[in-house]
Amino acid sequence: MIVDDLVRTPAAVAEAERWTAHNYHPLPVVISSAAGAWVTDIDGKRYLDCLAGYSALNFGHRHPALIAAAHAQLDRLTLTSRAFVHDQFAAFCRALAELCGKDLVLPMNTGAEAVETAIKVARKWGYRVKGVPHDKATIVVAEGNFHGRTTTIVSFSTDPDARADFGPYTPGFKVVPYGDLAALEAAIDETTVAVLLEPIQGEQGVIVPPEGYLPGVRALCTENRVLFVADEIQSGLGRTGTTFACDHEGVVPDMYVLGKALGGGIVPVSAVAADQDVLGVLRPGEHGSTFGGNPLACAVATEVVGLLKTGEFQRRSAELGARLHADLGALVGHGLLAVRGRGLWAGIDIDPALMTGRAACERLAERGVLAKDTHGSTIRLAPPLVVEPAELDWAVEQLAAIL
Ligand SMILES: *Cc1c(COP(=O)(O)O)cnc(C)c1O
Repeated sequence: MIVDDLVRTPAAVAEAERWTAHNYHPLPVVISSAAGAWVTDIDGKRYLDCLAGYSALNFGHRHPALIAAAHAQLDRLTLTSRAFVHDQFAAFCRALAELCGKDLVLPMNTGAEAVETAIKVARKWGYRVKGVPHDKATIVVAEGNFHGRTTTIVSFSTDPDARADFGPYTPGFKVVPYGDLAALEAAIDETTVAVLLEPIQGEQGVIVPPEGYLPGVRALCTENRVLFVADEIQSGLGRTGTTFACDHEGVVPDMYVLGKALGGGIVPVSAVAADQDVLGVLRPGEHGSTFGGNPLACAVATEVVGLLKTGEFQRRSAELGARLHADLGALVGHGLLAVRGRGLWAGIDIDPALMTGRAACERLAERGVLAKDTHGSTIRLAPPLVVEPAELDWAVEQLAAIL
């Protein structure tokens, strides 16, 4: 057989690049099938997926229960729009509300839409409930945040790549250093309607705030009658070893913003969850989405909540995460400068003298491990929560080998 017949990847990468805007810089891997924690490329090479769709694949690729729910729903009803009620809607909203311990849920599709929803709800709550003067509402956010890509959301990004050239920017946001309670307190005034934070900053490199920060944010929000909005799109739904990353410090935000894993790796599903006094401010016509809360999304996401209710995935993440962090910790001083994270989620800083994060990910891919760099020489490991201990050990061995 001719070698070229076996290596179709370079041509497929070039073809993909030829026909799309260059808003991503993917690793040269062309995936054609997947199951559990493993993907297979068009040349038949297998990789352990240590990115898991930025945590959209917490339950692995094609989890049988999720695929079964999707198949069953595909054969009955896929879309109605919210102009009508469908028979999957209540079950999903109720299951998610109960998982969050909140009165109400508002389903959307992508993470950015859920963040936009939270911003709109917080502003309306500010005007109608808190009594902030009209059009004066402010929302405090953190440096290094990542909440999505809409024009309003990039307006308060501190990442020049995400923000530059996309102005004019939406006003009404104040940016403070992440993890700094004094700065947060100083930024809050009578116009503040919400503090919007990731309990762990994912895109920034899996930054865990200092202990006591999240409870401190909770206390400041309560004292000042400000909504604490936790963007748990990446940190939530089992990733850190608990259902929500806020759970580690016993913190309950006023609004959860969820996405990614909520769609089970099958369809985009996002949502905000909050109590009646907050989400109850919306009236018909004020917010919506054609696809938000569609029957297929609800059927899959109800099953996702069902998986989370077993506690199995949170437990796996906690136990395997302890193992992952111990193994990675042993590499600090041997090519790694630092390791951060919780559960099956790690941000690792590679010694920049050795290589960039991009180069590390390319070498890992050659060895059959898929990971993604974030900034400079930081890479992020977030394998599906169904990964086996031996697979995890093997992935860390590959990392040690390239270092
Ligand atoms: C991915 C992500 C988003 C945006 O989600 P999309 O589905 O890509 O719009 C928002 N917030 C956080 C914390 C994320 O990780």
